[in-house]
Amino acid sequence: MSKPPIDLNDPSIEACKSTCFFCHTNCGTIAYVKDGEVIRVEGDPDHSTNRGGLCSRGNIALKHLDHPDRINTPLKRKGEKGAGQWEEITWEQALDEIAERLKVIREESGAEALATCGGTVRTDDWARRRFMNLFGSPNSFHNALLCWIPTFMIETAVSGWSPFGADLDNARIAVLWGANPGASVLPTMRTLTDCQKKGMKLMVIDPRYTATAAHADLWVPLRPGSDLALALAWLNVIIGEYLYDEDFCRDYCTGFDELAEHVKQYTPQWAAPLTDLTPTQIRESARMYAKNKPGSIMWGTSMDQQGRASGAAIHARALIRAIMGNINVTGGDIQTGPGLEFMVDEEFECNDVLSEEQRAKQLGSDKYKLCTWPGYGLIRDIALDTWGAAPPSEWMCEANAPSVWRAILEGEPYRVRALICCATNPVNSYGDSKVVLEALKKVEFLVTCEYWMTSAALYADYVMPIAGALERPVIHNNYGCATVFHGGRRAISPLHDRGTDFQFWRGLGLRLGQDDEEDWPWECEEEAYFDIVYPTGLEIESYDEFVDEIGGSYSSDFNPNAWREEGFPTRSGKVELKSSVLEELGYPGLPTYVGAPEAHAEDPEVVESFPLILTTGGGFMPFHHSEEFNIKELRFLRPDPYFDINPETAQKLGIKKKDWCWIETMRGRIKQRACLTNGIAPNTIYTQRGWWYPERTLTPGEDDPFGVLESNTNVLTAASFEDCDPISGTWACRGLRCRVYKVQEGGAR
Ligand code: SF4
Repeated sequence: MSKPPIDLNDPSIEACKSTCFFCHTNCGTIAYVKDGEVIRVEGDPDHSTNRGGLCSRGNIALKHLDHPDRINTPLKRKGEKGAGQWEEITWEQALDEIAERLKVIREESGAEALATCGGTVRTDDWARRRFMNLFGSPNSFHNALLCWIPTFMIETAVSGWSPFGADLDNARIAVLWGANPGASVLPTMRTLTDCQKKGMKLMVIDPRYTATAAHADLWVPLRPGSDLALALAWLNVIIGEYLYDEDFCRDYCTGFDELAEHVKQYTPQWAAPLTDLTPTQIRESARMYAKNKPGSIMWGTSMDQQGRASGAAIHARALIRAIMGNINVTGGDIQTGPGLEFMVDEEFECNDVLSEEQRAKQLGSDKYKLCTWPGYGLIRDIALDTWGAAPPSEWMCEANAPSVWRAILEGEPYRVRALICCATNPVNSYGDSKVVLEALKKVEFLVTCEYWMTSAALYADYVMPIAGALERPVIHNNYGCATVFHGGRRAISPLHDRGTDFQFWRGLGLRLGQDDEEDWPWECEEEAYFDIVYPTGLEIESYDEFVDEIGGSYSSDFNPNAWREEGFPTRSGKVELKSSVLEELGYPGLPTYVGAPEAHAEDPEVVESFPLILTTGGGFMPFHHSEEFNIKELRFLRPDPYFDINPETAQKLGIKKKDWCWIETMRGRIKQRACLTNGIAPNTIYTQRGWWYPERTLTPGEDDPFGVLESNTNVLTAASFEDCDPISGTWACRGLRCRVYKVQEGGAR
């Protein structure tokens, strides 16, 4: 049924430029507000990202706003952890009591005994980092290690800033390597198809024939987790066939000769059995990218999710782009650098107040050095020298999540006693869910900031009700990593007794002795965002004016050719193919092959027991991670979880379409329904991520609240220390060993 038209002449209706909050794209919306109530949300036709469109998630903003499952007031635990018994209290009481408990823990065990984790926060994670730095703990962490952070840091180590902006309008080819925007980020997909109409070629490298692969000129169906082998073989082909940009490599790169020598061993014949591609497919795909210059290799999460193979794979991909001279050229990948004309997140984080002594205690920083203080400190210093601004620590410098769970459970190297989870259910979104759930049950003091009651919130001592889209302003600035930002207003004040995450961290900080003038000079987000915008010199007197009068978008002047005169923003002024930053941290300067993402995956006994290869972690509509499962209009579209299996394999295993099946790895098993598709190789399985069942009634003492271990793909993922990438610390969601079998009658749920 179509919606009745809004009477735009009705003076009692205000059209407010707001922002969608259901994925990182932050599309522009228009919220129509009458008498303090949002009556309609539509896509903003003037917003450059979505140009009026909204996906199914964006279209349920009103359902989300006042959903009956939303937590509307702070909850304090009564009775045993996990019993689901709560007392409703005020924000003041909750913040007072949480602060009091944290004060005691800090006095007894040091500030590092508090850890905080984030998830799908799309703005203001700097406030969490600011709080933690002022509190004195280095143990902020994130599941963003699975999403862009290793890529950003390794590419920055190589060329001085990640060239993550693509000039697709002028590109002759775009390579999507482990990205599926057709199922996750629809505005990107539209841009790609528009460019294809103008003649751009599209290559998709993905084990699955996805919605995006269906649009490709070439689909490269590599074996999950073999991206490193393919990238090394591409380097071998491009260099061996003299397809690289000789002038660029001579004048603007260091280490080319050593790279050329190093990759001689990685021939297409060598890579073929590792990738399940033929040598011809490998050669043809490398040639297609190299011969269609300028071109872009767009970022996709796949390489960030391959555990111990991730860092080297990302490094190799960065070198392919570099030796082709496809950085900072028209039609190539663009290194915008930080936003120099506005305040970047790093300037809000108070990183300098955290002492060297506390930085050294960051969990995991002794093992995984690039995305923790040792590597971040190095990269931050170089960026401050070259650019004059640094990437945000909130994302790029994290305690290693698997190390935090271990510290909670085993007290090694010290006990983490308190955990605050903000905008994340770690059981769904971090690796090896059973370990995570155990850690949440065991941690001495747990606070969650949430929309809903989840399996994590259930074990909390306090649950804080967090405001969402429409109830808060949003600024989308890539955390200061790019030169563009968009912003939207809050359409209404938070409903009920909800508050924002900024309000939570500020309120807690003030109660712990942080100063309201120096440390937290802004009383609300709008005041802080005005500080972000103010240096642009725009003639505005408030953040809301920036949205209403200027349109909520800002783009710095940017000269992509400046590097020709000024050099690259690295210590040598060149693209460092052999990375001095990685070498200084004790890693190989050139990408070197390591085997499958899971440590034991090549053991013959394991291969026999777990004959199939699992890939997971990819997004799918209409959900974003584990969000929106409460919204029945979206669950209607996807009532059950499905995994992809080739019909040939299914037949051998006696599996029919829609059968509930167990998918099992060395860490556990989950059940999903079978989707038989030729779009996946016979040796490969793909599982959907994020699944839980918020509709389930809780029973006291339940081991699997809301079925969070039943169909959740992270029960299967690998996050032991040996499985993690030695460079970045990310864990493995792709290329894992698994087996599949039917759920027996009566066991389907
Ligand atoms: S892609 Fe969809 S969920 Fe993401 S911001 Fe846009 S409308 Fe919202």
